[in-house]
Amino acid sequence: MAIKSLSRYKKNNIFNGDFLKVFEDMSSHCFVPEFIAVLAGIKPVFRTYAIHVDRYPIFQKICKKYSIFVEFSDFRISSNDWISIVKKSQFVFAYFSKYKKLAKEAKDVEYNIFVKNEKSYKTLLRFSQLMGYPKCCFDFFLSGWKKIISDKTSCVRPDQFEYISHQNTKEVFSFYLNNLIKGNNYYLISHLPHSYNCKPSIEYAKKVLTAIKKVNPEIAEKITTILKYPVMKFLNRGQYLRFIKGKVKNDNEIVYEVSEGDDKLNKKFIKGNKILAERTKIKIFKNKKLVDVYNKKNKLDGVIFDFK
Ligand SMILES: [Zn+2]
Repeated sequence: MAIKSLSRYKKNNIFNGDFLKVFEDMSSHCFVPEFIAVLAGIKPVFRTYAIHVDRYPIFQKICKKYSIFVEFSDFRISSNDWISIVKKSQFVFAYFSKYKKLAKEAKDVEYNIFVKNEKSYKTLLRFSQLMGYPKCCFDFFLSGWKKIISDKTSCVRPDQFEYISHQNTKEVFSFYLNNLIKGNNYYLISHLPHSYNCKPSIEYAKKVLTAIKKVNPEIAEKITTILKYPVMKFLNRGQYLRFIKGKVKNDNEIVYEVSEGDDKLNKKFIKGNKILAERTKIKIFKNKKLVDVYNKKNKLDGVIFDFK
């Protein structure tokens, strides 16, 4: 489908309507950018997190409405960790594509990976290609993942690779690749970029943003604005802060209007409009007056991602 014809989805209101209802109780984000990427033919297949089987009819209805195809995994996912395979459970993965063949292929390839334990480079790469991820980022993720598996004492999680991507970023941190906080559909890529200046990822994200603009120009504008604000990452899973209207100075200082993100952390940061990140603590100021201090629990707390 040409991106141009996406404008016809405007009236269906992908951003608010029944399109999102099916994802309402899902953990972190709403998938709109991924769906638009599928509709525009930018992303070959989109695979959801584990979804309840009672969603089948709604998904099928949505697919009919938007002329896309869905397949469901033959295996079931544990509701304890949302990733391991179990015999009995009500949760499955769903695979969406503009092309029936590709949705089916993604389902089959993942079956081979999960159930048949077929984890050759070729098979894993194929799955990643079906998801539309660049090869450089796939190789980056795979080598990191292998290290985790080989080191039994490792307690590294995939989201911590973001620190390595941060180190790999030698040039500008491109806002196109800012997917640290995916809530409210404020993201363009769903994979982990090997660096925040990965060229193929930026190219992909630009296409997604153009497609979103066709569906809803206001939201595209909002995404562009928000993704340019700096984000701070903490070691605990899912702990991020975004600094609205924030500007980074001297690598360790952010001047901002409002902060948002992890509720517990934000109780401190929302009090201020400037922070100074030091080795063991982060000082929070309001109009030059020190109002709070965050004592780092780990040296990886408070790493700044200065997107532009
Ligand atoms: Zn890459």
